[in-house]
Amino acid sequence: MTDRTTSRGTKTIAPELVVRGGTVVDRTGTRRSDVRVVAGRVVEVGEDLDVPAGARVIDAGGCVVSPGLVDLHTHLREPGREEAETIESGTRAAALGGFTAVVAMPNTDPPLDSAESVRNVFALAQGSMAQVAVAGAITVDRAGERLAPMAELAALGVRLFTDDGDGVQSAGLMRRALQYATGLGVTLGQHCEDASLAAGGTMHEGAWSSRLGLAGMPSEAEEVMVARDIALSRATGGRVHFLHLSTAGSIDLVRRARAEGVPVTAEIAPHHFTLTDGCAAGYDPVFKVNPPLRPQDDVDAVKAALADGTADAIATDHAPHAPELKDLPFDLAPPGMLGLQTALALATTELDLPIERIVALLSWQPAAIAGLDPAHGGSQGGPVEPGAAANLCVVDPSATWTVDPTALASRSRNTPYTGRKLTGRVRHTILAGEPVVIDAVAQR
Ligand SMILES: [Zn+2]
Repeated sequence: MTDRTTSRGTKTIAPELVVRGGTVVDRTGTRRSDVRVVAGRVVEVGEDLDVPAGARVIDAGGCVVSPGLVDLHTHLREPGREEAETIESGTRAAALGGFTAVVAMPNTDPPLDSAESVRNVFALAQGSMAQVAVAGAITVDRAGERLAPMAELAALGVRLFTDDGDGVQSAGLMRRALQYATGLGVTLGQHCEDASLAAGGTMHEGAWSSRLGLAGMPSEAEEVMVARDIALSRATGGRVHFLHLSTAGSIDLVRRARAEGVPVTAEIAPHHFTLTDGCAAGYDPVFKVNPPLRPQDDVDAVKAALADGTADAIATDHAPHAPELKDLPFDLAPPGMLGLQTALALATTELDLPIERIVALLSWQPAAIAGLDPAHGGSQGGPVEPGAAANLCVVDPSATWTVDPTALASRSRNTPYTGRKLTGRVRHTILAGEPVVIDAVAQR
């Protein structure tokens, strides 16, 4: 177990550091700079800084130094499914993946639909290797029937609400939730899946599902809810964040809504820009996920959305499952894949985008959606400048590595990328001034 007495919560004084020789990339631009950190804060940014006696040098030669990555969509599984993941193992995976903050999804057991359950997660997360923010449930027990006490959760700092795992099926309830959310200044995240269209489906409905004899979920199961929620967002002024969009039709809808000024945002999961429905050809449940893997045209569409700004964020949808569940036959296995330790490298390897765009999609843009950035009083995603919290990610864009599930920090092994060679690797992660990952090794 991690020694929790060394947590940020107990205000351990972090050592003085100089991150030397890197290229700083943040929302203000790109420049060659060293970064000096004292007591958890950036105190100096500039070329060839002096290293004070006693300061620790963190080598960033050839690397990009960015604000820490922020994951909008992490299933930490604790409480309730600790055999699959714990807050400790999940945040260790996050730190190794360059994340200094994760938004914990509320589909735990019990679900995060009350002040008590949210307080419990915050208590469990004390001393973690990444900041743990919480997404609250929109409805009690995520049952889609009556609203959770959103005001009580918002008072604890919850800025994002979602019934993720399920979409809110009732349009009337979703409208009421949006009206309520508008008053509270919070955002509703939607897992877009119309249950009546998706019912019984285990993969994308198309040529592959026919060939494999597996029941399919049509693209429309996602798209009708995207269209509905755009209409409800337009009508109420409430902010909707679309989780893990996966189809070309969804992207078209969001692109038009944003051009019109409707306050919607969108995230894309790495598996939706790297894998297709054909991956299910061997009936390996490691490729089962919700929303499902889609055909190449959809993969091309979500890549285009990341390139042209229609999508705001890359979010992992890190969804650990214990081997005994993930080894069930395809139609019975639970959906979901690991994501925290591969997200950045998949983006640098598979997206034809400059590193500046990739870190924007993984750091300050999601931080703003989660309300974790300095503009919302938070310490994530901010510019690397004197006075800023020292939450930093140091990436070597040219380092190559091969995904080995047994080497991942997660308690689960359900990565679909076993053996995949990736270019781009998180080298160091600094959390509130503490180097929690050095040379791709967790420090505690
Ligand atoms: Zn989901």
